[in-house]
Amino acid sequence: MVIVVGNWKMYKTVSESVEFVKTLAPLIEGSQAEVWLAVPYTAIAPTAEVAEGIVIGAQNMNDATEGAFTGEIAARMLLDVGARFVVLGHSERRHVFGEGNDFIRRKLERALSSGLRPILCVGETLEEREAGQTEETISRQLKGVSGDIVLAYEPVWAIGTDKAATPEMAQEVHSFCRTILDVPILYGGSVKPENAEAIMAQSDIDGLLVGGASLDPKTFASIIKESSK
Ligand code: PEP
Repeated sequence: MVIVVGNWKMYKTVSESVEFVKTLAPLIEGSQAEVWLAVPYTAIAPTAEVAEGIVIGAQNMNDATEGAFTGEIAARMLLDVGARFVVLGHSERRHVFGEGNDFIRRKLERALSSGLRPILCVGETLEEREAGQTEETISRQLKGVSGDIVLAYEPVWAIGTDKAATPEMAQEVHSFCRTILDVPILYGGSVKPENAEAIMAQSDIDGLLVGGASLDPKTFASIIKESSK
């Protein structure tokens, strides 16, 4: 089964989110792909209420069950408002907010033990790729990781840059990831309607994680269509 995930980052109010879901639903009717949306925290409950056939999740969480952690959110709070999955280790969390592999792994364990399906994002920076350290970086990011997760290979240099990895480059890293973990592996990084089909044609690419191009329902719908041709 193909999985196409939209990551809205810090975009969309509640009314914009609900309108998006209502617009998207008829556009993807009959689609073979599973469609997941990682929406802002404030939009989880309202979108989960109207999102027939679309799976709603969160973009981050803390590893603790509860506690004195101002501004953080716990897995049980996300489940309580209708989230079914959570994105963990996104490159913006790693590189803008300084999250490290140990913290991300603890969050992943908490998500799994709480019943939230984690999407773990991994990927190398341009510097690491150019130094021939892609596999080493990904091995470090996957150390100690197991369970019923979804993996997303997102090369940092391809996120929000309009410079997607070529399908062959992505395939090479996906097949490496597959030697470590036998789980669904999504590709993310500048996915557009124009490149979705070629990326999805690779044998170890099970779906897509889409940032910028998931903000417009028509564009996202055409990625979903291209992904499951
Ligand atoms: C992302 O946010 O995970 C992402 C892949 O962004 P974009 O599609 O905009 O590159």
